[in-house]
Amino acid sequence: MFRETVTSVHHWSDRTFSFCTSRDPAFRFNAGEFVLVGIRHAGKPILRAYSIVSPPWSDELEFLSIKIADGELTSRLQYIKEGDEILIATKTTGTLRNAALIPGANLWLLATGTGLAPFMSLIRDLEILEAWSCIHVIHSVRDSTDLAYQDQLTTAFSTCTETKHLHSIIRPILHYQAIVTGAGDARITAQLASGALAIDCAKDRVMLCGNMAFNREVAAWCEQKGMTEGSLRKPGDFVLEKAFVDT
Ligand SMILES: Cc1cc2nc3c(=O)[nH]c(=O)nc-3n(C[C@H](O)[C@H](O)[C@H](O)COP(=O)(O)OP(=O)(O)OC[C@H]3O[C@@H](n4cnc5c(N)ncnc54)[C@H](O)[C@@H]3O)c2cc1C
Repeated sequence: MFRETVTSVHHWSDRTFSFCTSRDPAFRFNAGEFVLVGIRHAGKPILRAYSIVSPPWSDELEFLSIKIADGELTSRLQYIKEGDEILIATKTTGTLRNAALIPGANLWLLATGTGLAPFMSLIRDLEILEAWSCIHVIHSVRDSTDLAYQDQLTTAFSTCTETKHLHSIIRPILHYQAIVTGAGDARITAQLASGALAIDCAKDRVMLCGNMAFNREVAAWCEQKGMTEGSLRKPGDFVLEKAFVDT
């Protein structure tokens, strides 16, 4: 277990926040993966799965978190501040990997809520940027205040010092669309059904990260269109990861 230090915290809303930590040089991961993250409370670690927001080349680690009032971890984690200790497991894993997809034309990254997290890492990874001529990031939230990283996504990271060198590569490739269901925007599933999200199922590839019902519905839509689910062993047309598990 790595013991890292919080370097910054940003609260997007009363439901979501993000935080950065130091990174041990021995901590390695692939863009799109998740890891167990947590804090020590009453002498015991409380750990939960978290997708890594930062790209693999970054000196720091970043995470996007929900705030659950009675959640064992996040009822406490939401109060972390600079200098606090964060526990990060050594083993990372995940299915949202470029290598799990058959090469194609456009890449569609469909997220609900904190499901955006792994895509923030992927879209700053050179392997992904070199593999796709067009990457669509579709982020659906209930309230506009939960549109985390909207500024970075809209400007293709032009204002981030750390990512400035990638801006000219990301800008022509990245297409970002925010969906605010509370403001009346049609859900991703409805936009797929109506054709508003113009995915070419023969040529395009899809990554999903959302709540379990969303993943189920979109995976069923993909399969109905003849797309196959991929894995690192057997790459396919779409891959999915849960943004969280309902209990
Ligand atoms: C593969 C994977 C990756 C994950 N990545 C992230 C991530 O990047 N960011 C993140 O905030 N969470 C992520 N989660 C969820 C995370 O592991 C915890 O469930 C979350 O931090 C809440 O922990 P808790 O102990 O406070 O509450 P828990 O007891 O873990 O959860 C209580 C309830 O809160 C709801 N809930 C939990 N997480 C979320 C969420 N993210 N959005 C909406 N509702 C939720 C569910 O209904 C759950 O039953 C991920 C889960 C999985 C399986």
